[in-house]
Amino acid sequence: MKALTIKEVIKYTSGEYLGNQFNIQITGVSTDSRTINKGELFVPLTGPNFDGHDFIERAFEKGAAAILCDKNKRSKVDNLPIKNIIFVDNPQSALLSLSAYYRRLFDIPFVAITGSVGKTTTKEMTAEILNMRFKVLKTSGNLNNEIGLPLTIFRLEEGYQVGVVELGMSALGEISRMASVVRPKIAVITNIGIAHIEKLGSKQNIARAKMEILEPLGENDLAVLNGDCQELWDARKTIVPKTVFFGQERGDIKARNIKSNSTNELEFDIYGCYGEMTFKALLPGIHNVNNALAAIAVGFEMGLTKEEIQQGFLNLKLPEMRLQFKKSYFGADIIDDAYNANPDSMKSALDFLQQYSYGKKRAVILGDMLELGDLSEKAHFEIGKYAAERADIFIAVGNYAQSFKKGALQGHLDSRYIHTFLTVKEAVGEIKKLVEDCDIILIKASRGMKMEQITQTLVRGS
Ligand code: ATP
Ligand code: MG
Repeated sequence: MKALTIKEVIKYTSGEYLGNQFNIQITGVSTDSRTINKGELFVPLTGPNFDGHDFIERAFEKGAAAILCDKNKRSKVDNLPIKNIIFVDNPQSALLSLSAYYRRLFDIPFVAITGSVGKTTTKEMTAEILNMRFKVLKTSGNLNNEIGLPLTIFRLEEGYQVGVVELGMSALGEISRMASVVRPKIAVITNIGIAHIEKLGSKQNIARAKMEILEPLGENDLAVLNGDCQELWDARKTIVPKTVFFGQERGDIKARNIKSNSTNELEFDIYGCYGEMTFKALLPGIHNVNNALAAIAVGFEMGLTKEEIQQGFLNLKLPEMRLQFKKSYFGADIIDDAYNANPDSMKSALDFLQQYSYGKKRAVILGDMLELGDLSEKAHFEIGKYAAERADIFIAVGNYAQSFKKGALQGHLDSRYIHTFLTVKEAVGEIKKLVEDCDIILIKASRGMKMEQITQTLVRGS
């Protein structure tokens, strides 16, 4: 990170500072007192089970140059021998505001990516492609919220030529705030599904929330949008920047002749505004074609050649737990997609299972999809039914296991082949004997379910 002075920090966090060392420099920003380095600014965050303000002294002992502190929590620092404290209304919002200032110190284009599913995948593809020509700063892993984004921005340094960031959200307004920090040159919406409907109430609202990413774009900027999403397509005439739609049905760039010839290889032809050509990518699952189309559009718009884009795909390595192939201790293939789940990604994972398991005995181990609000029972029922048509054995885990089961019964799977467990722990004890004669096993649920314990049991045998 480029150093900032305390004076700048005060100004851009609208903070109040009682000390007089205005020229002290901060050389990094950290929200974790365990890993903070000397010279960094400590930003205490508050969660349901912890309060970062309790660690201010520790951060200071480790060499923090300055501390942000919630002005309503002065009592937590009154007795500490620390001078460089900047009092702010809310440390988390102050972190975001400071990152907005820091971002403006770098005159480089950013690509910002949002959507219900496929954000991380598309971000990784786009970064890998742009990396062929530019020095790229990208969001690490899945740090896509109002804390992760500023921490990514503070990693900017001289030399970076492009930024690629993932923006996630669970409520209206979040993407808007983050997009105004990023000021993207290109904004991508991978799709609009029903993830987070609990908080947002309707699909219309979800679409509105995602489209907040377009707010900072001007006429010379670009929106890369999924044309198959009705809400985006309907909005096309009112969108200010130039648009490139991608999709299977509607779009300026489309794919055909899609071949998924082995577990990790995808080949497809694109046609439309960038001409006709074939791409190969090391990616599992046909749903990734849409993500790839978005990344290809960004690549061409940033001036890369077809060959560079192609090489970018070949360099790509996707992060853990996204349709990863593993071997069970008894020799079955495990498709580990336990990273996260919502109805759209469940369906694509089940389609993926079907693609690769012709003639094999298939088990699916599905856990709850969280945050679906009033739609929860219906969504689990429907996925249960969808899974029943694609699996020989169905193991459902969690509070919605019974809804999964009802759906699976409706989908004509015999009740002898449906097993339900309330918790992962209960399932771990029983799972081995239920799937030991299967050839291929799909494991998927929302992140909060921690299904990796099941995966581990099947990989290690204990
Ligand atoms: P999160 O909200 O957790 O950050 P994300 O939007 O970053 O999720 P990814 O991590 O890229 O999404 O993908 C999650 C899962 O969704 C993948 O493992 C895959 O099964 C599925 N998926 C990815 N892209 C698509 C797509 N375009 N359509 C349907 N399913 C998809
Ligand atoms: Mg993600």
